[in-house]
Amino acid sequence: MIIIKQGGDEIISGANMKNVPNILWLEEIRKEDIISVGGKGASLGEMASIGLPVPRAFVVTAQAFRRFLVETNLEEKIFSSFDKLDVEDNAALEKAADHAKDLVMKAKMPVIIHDEIKKAYKKMSAEDLIVAVRSSATAEDLPDASFAGQQETYLNIKGEANLLDSVQKCWASLYGARAIYYRSKQGFDDHTVNIAVVVQQLVHSEKAGVMFTSHPITGEKNTIIEGSWGLGEAVVSGSVSPDKYVFDQKTEKVIDTLISNKKVEIIADGDHGTKLVDVPPARQDVQVLSDAEVAKLGMYGKIAENHYGIPQDVEWGIVKGTIYILQSRPITTIGAKKENKSMSGQKSEAKIILKGQGAAPGIASGKVVVIRDVKDTGSVREGDILVTKMTNPDMVPAMRKVAAIITDEGGMTCHAAIVSRELGTPAIVGTKTATKILTNGQLITVDGEMGLIYEGLLPQAAAPVQGAAPQRLVAPASSIITATSVKVNVSIPEAAARAAATGADGVGLLRIEHLILGLNKTPGWFIANNKEEEFIKELHDGIKIVMDAFPGKTVWVRTLDAPTDEFRNMQGGESEPHEHNPMLGWRGIRRDLQSPEQFRLQVESFKRLWKEGYENLGIMFPMVSHPDQFLKAKEMMRSYGVDVENTTLGIMIEIPSSAIMIEDFCKAGIKFASFGTNDLIQYTLAIDRNNENVADMYQPQHPAVLHLIHNAIQVCRAYNIECSICGQAGSDPKMATWLVEHGITSISANIDAIAKIREAVARTEKRIILEAARSKDAE
Ligand code: PEP
Ligand code: MG
Repeated sequence: MIIIKQGGDEIISGANMKNVPNILWLEEIRKEDIISVGGKGASLGEMASIGLPVPRAFVVTAQAFRRFLVETNLEEKIFSSFDKLDVEDNAALEKAADHAKDLVMKAKMPVIIHDEIKKAYKKMSAEDLIVAVRSSATAEDLPDASFAGQQETYLNIKGEANLLDSVQKCWASLYGARAIYYRSKQGFDDHTVNIAVVVQQLVHSEKAGVMFTSHPITGEKNTIIEGSWGLGEAVVSGSVSPDKYVFDQKTEKVIDTLISNKKVEIIADGDHGTKLVDVPPARQDVQVLSDAEVAKLGMYGKIAENHYGIPQDVEWGIVKGTIYILQSRPITTIGAKKENKSMSGQKSEAKIILKGQGAAPGIASGKVVVIRDVKDTGSVREGDILVTKMTNPDMVPAMRKVAAIITDEGGMTCHAAIVSRELGTPAIVGTKTATKILTNGQLITVDGEMGLIYEGLLPQAAAPVQGAAPQRLVAPASSIITATSVKVNVSIPEAAARAAATGADGVGLLRIEHLILGLNKTPGWFIANNKEEEFIKELHDGIKIVMDAFPGKTVWVRTLDAPTDEFRNMQGGESEPHEHNPMLGWRGIRRDLQSPEQFRLQVESFKRLWKEGYENLGIMFPMVSHPDQFLKAKEMMRSYGVDVENTTLGIMIEIPSSAIMIEDFCKAGIKFASFGTNDLIQYTLAIDRNNENVADMYQPQHPAVLHLIHNAIQVCRAYNIECSICGQAGSDPKMATWLVEHGITSISANIDAIAKIREAVARTEKRIILEAARSKDAE
């Protein structure tokens, strides 16, 4: 018998299970119930308990799930197969997972649970209501365990039978192979992990948007509301310029209204999914919210802020005049990023305890958790500050949870820096001594812009709050139009919406390593285990998410490029060669050319996308040093059935040889070239980009680097070939100015840098035009 304890009291055992409710209504839930209803359920319950109009919902509790396991005698059957399981043995893992899921799906739900769910569903509405059914996993030692994305959600569910089936499917999803693997890696005992299921009315908003309850940095009591037609996704993703309303909490008056031209809206697509449609011209310029609605929303914002004690980022929707509050979460570092502020000058009395390179902007406070081995990431909690020597792809699940990241090693282009920027999590790298100086549980504040670590929790940083969601706001799409395209770099699909919200002109670099490495398996593992289809699908699906966020805009997908040391801790990592210098080793196109199967699988995923009509997909080869490599890769693609002459194939210029031989590349038929300055600088100056000891000698604007770039741009111009940059240097406005002056065609920058790069580009272009006009006048 499994016994689950809460604060020392047995809450489930054969003896007292009768007392545990199977169903809890939102109104009954408090945040203390998190062990019964999971993080999602508890947060919705908390919102409902303070009077916010949350769509109706009930939770099938974790105890109901456990009762199901006990009454159907499944515990023994499931856990005995897990006890002997080696999760590194993929075949055994898949088999155990399939077996457990099958047992859960085939078992008969106890009548009492079955009846209570049916009764609760009826109570929601006389007619069959359309609901969302969401899993919410809980664990004994970490109630709000972040198992996000590992259990299922089912949308648009209608009718009792479908609902019961979806609940059981959610339960079964607790035993997905990926979920079992992650739990094992993070040190959770499967015996004590439970799952609650949230059943909530699905709101098909007629108008919706977001609200910031107070100014996040100044604390000014002005509530800012953005709203547009249809579902809130359009506002959140930046697909539309929303109306903006400012509500003064002191005078309780609307003090500013800005009506935008709202060209598109996102609406429900029948019973499944959503679609983007044009707003009829007659509605485009109509004000979305009345003053009364603004005031009411403002009031709800005030309630939420007062309750949680810090400014909130709220999602809302309105159907037939009824306002619904869909989500409320703290504005943590959003304000800092949005305003591009750091704390310098504002908090001179605060004590600086450590410095490093500011790698991802934003300010956050929290408790230090020092991770010395990836095995220990199970101890990382939401809102902690992760301190480690250097992050690796297998640490990404933990990186998603934390409020900030600090590393001993690395520079602006290391793994920690790249991933943190995309997650929108403040980060400081290259501190040299963080893991020695900072101690577990210590409270600190991180300024990711300035690279400063302060003692204690400082007021400029919002307090870490359990369940704080990753940041999603960025500088809004701008109306500045530039002749030089300003594109964005993406590495993780979950950053696609934030990237698109910048209004960027396309994706100048999609690093696909992260799509695969998230599964914690090396490409070689997929091939060795005959899981080619899984590999192709994972790549295809990840790329598609990004392509869908940039309809009609060019997306350059880069073929695999991860140094062998990044694979080491993954399944299959044991087969990777040990290299003295992985940066100069078996990576990029050189590895693909010698590993045709690995290359072919990538190409298969591209082919599927082209077949599906994604003509805007271009392919970029990394670490190319000679035109023959480009030609060979092209030939291989032809042999895999690609119409290579009508495909956009290009190269990265990141080895000096490719900059020097750029004319030969142009003659060989490249359609574009993009400077990978992260590598180009290290290979030109012999400075390891990840080595904090030489970080101050890593100079993007070293004359030799600029010389290579300048020459390559001129040759590309002569051959009429798009010349771009996707290295970190392109996110520096000074470098962007220089590049525009020297004729670059496009610049691809980090999400957080797009607004300032666009501005720098626009200013430079105007200056060039002005100077040309003046010199003409003077003639
Ligand atoms: C580069 O080298 O500049 C680049 C963009 O590639 P990566 O950082 O992935 O090596
Ligand atoms: Mg590179």
